[in-house]
Amino acid sequence: MTQNQVITSLGRAQNQGDEELSKSFATTSSMAALGQAIASWGQKNSLWPLPYGTACCGIEMMSVMGPKYDLARFGAEVVRFSPRQSDLLLVAGTITEKMAPILVRIYRQMLEPKYVISMGACASSGGFYRAYHVLQGADKVIPVDVYVPGCPPTPEAVLDGVMLLQRMIAQNHPRPWKKNWKAPEHV
Ligand code: SF4
Repeated sequence: MTQNQVITSLGRAQNQGDEELSKSFATTSSMAALGQAIASWGQKNSLWPLPYGTACCGIEMMSVMGPKYDLARFGAEVVRFSPRQSDLLLVAGTITEKMAPILVRIYRQMLEPKYVISMGACASSGGFYRAYHVLQGADKVIPVDVYVPGCPPTPEAVLDGVMLLQRMIAQNHPRPWKKNWKAPEHV
């Protein structure tokens, strides 16, 4: 399958997801559930990412935002560098122990509802840096919703991660890892 075919199929899957949501609008009987479905639909299609790019994965993240892969098709192209204007934290790259408190501070300053995607091996598990100075995964200090594997992950994998998050938002998926999260004391 060529890259263009992959991109086309991702776009088609997105449209199918929206059609399913239209059907759920049509079949929802309770006004509260309908309101929740509409709010979720708005949230999932207007994610404002804060790119926390620290290493090579940050470069891959840029290509996801560029014209070829065009994250705008998923409503998530409005990149913000202020946590107070963002609801999706895209952690892309190695996180050193010294940077962990900054990551926590940024996460705490973001507005609710907020989500986190961990992009790549380093952000998800420390990658090949089994060393004292590297955090062994963003989830050691903040709650992560979606992990995207790879070193670096392909842009298609990142898009797949965004679509997975959109499905979680649309389905109001329970997120115990976030509900039970407490800011670590040591950072
Ligand atoms: S996962 Fe690989 S590409 Fe991404 S920051 Fe780590 S070393 Fe770089």
